[in-house]
Amino acid sequence: MIVVLDSDCSLKEKAGVVRFIERRGGRLLVSEIGDETHIGLIDTEAQSLAAEIESMPGVAELRPLAPPYPQVARDHHPESSVVRVGDVRFGGNEVVVLAGPCSVENDEQISIVGEAVARSGARMLRGGAFKPRSSPYSFQGLGEEGLVLLAWVREQTGLPVVTEVVAPEDVDLVAQYADMLQIGARNMQNFRLLSEVGAQTLPVLLKRGISSTVEELLLAAEYVVAAGNPRVVLCERGLRTFETTTRNTLDISAVPVLKQKTHLPVIVDPSHAAGERSLVPHLARAAVAAGADGIIVEVHNDPESALSDGKQSLTLEGFETMMAQLRRVARAVDRQIAPPIVG
Ligand code: PEP
Ligand code: MN
Repeated sequence: MIVVLDSDCSLKEKAGVVRFIERRGGRLLVSEIGDETHIGLIDTEAQSLAAEIESMPGVAELRPLAPPYPQVARDHHPESSVVRVGDVRFGGNEVVVLAGPCSVENDEQISIVGEAVARSGARMLRGGAFKPRSSPYSFQGLGEEGLVLLAWVREQTGLPVVTEVVAPEDVDLVAQYADMLQIGARNMQNFRLLSEVGAQTLPVLLKRGISSTVEELLLAAEYVVAAGNPRVVLCERGLRTFETTTRNTLDISAVPVLKQKTHLPVIVDPSHAAGERSLVPHLARAAVAAGADGIIVEVHNDPESALSDGKQSLTLEGFETMMAQLRRVARAVDRQIAPPIVG
């Protein structure tokens, strides 16, 4: 339910409604929509008070709360949110590129890739230290050693680090090293993990599950925000469909759909969608043209010998070429790629 206040409702009346809900243990969200003040009744405690609220002074009417994800819905927060990671801003006019290997493998690899992608214009470094692999026999990541290497390359390059956390009990450890926590596609509906990253302060990159609807993605984001962390960036990374020529089917429509439904920034991962290096720049250009706030892409100095996802990883040169293309596409849609932090 949304409580719409009278246009001439006094501050005292507004505070009275808010206090009444809070004292009874309900959660609410106050927003100014045009010239109306709305108080969203978020949880069941707050909703159970609707009948009493309706007769309070200053209240004009009650309206149904349309989306089941009130805190991330654009309905109640019409301006786009900007999520900051250091100097990086997701959700403004600049399109942010995040790049790096699928997995951190060793000091030489992550350092070479980090330096190269920074020079070509990446604004954040990606790299997995804890890897969610389909097979228990595949490389599972270096764990804490990988986090140490990511932090070391952040010192070298100035690039903030995004890395995946796969289990609730690892959140504190990963948060000691990372600047942004990634929730992978396989964990999008791991509700305990979502609440755990919602209870800490680093921003969260939330990837869409391979069989999840847009609404399920938004509900997953609502979990993080409801737990206290509003700094969420969403990521479309391709869906499992009947099509076999790509690893996943990139749902490019999800970009404008999400931008309409939520105020949160939306980025695209063309690497896990394509599964094949030669397709990645095409999908990345489409994402920028469709209005994505950023691109997260896998890059490797020697993709043929990569311990994970080498087939879809761009070479260092391939990444540089793609960046030049993305700058042109961004200009064509009145955006710009965030400028490199190193020359
Ligand atoms: C990744 O980014 O390396 C990854 C495992 O992605 P996803 O969760 O989208 O499969
Ligand atoms: Mn990968």
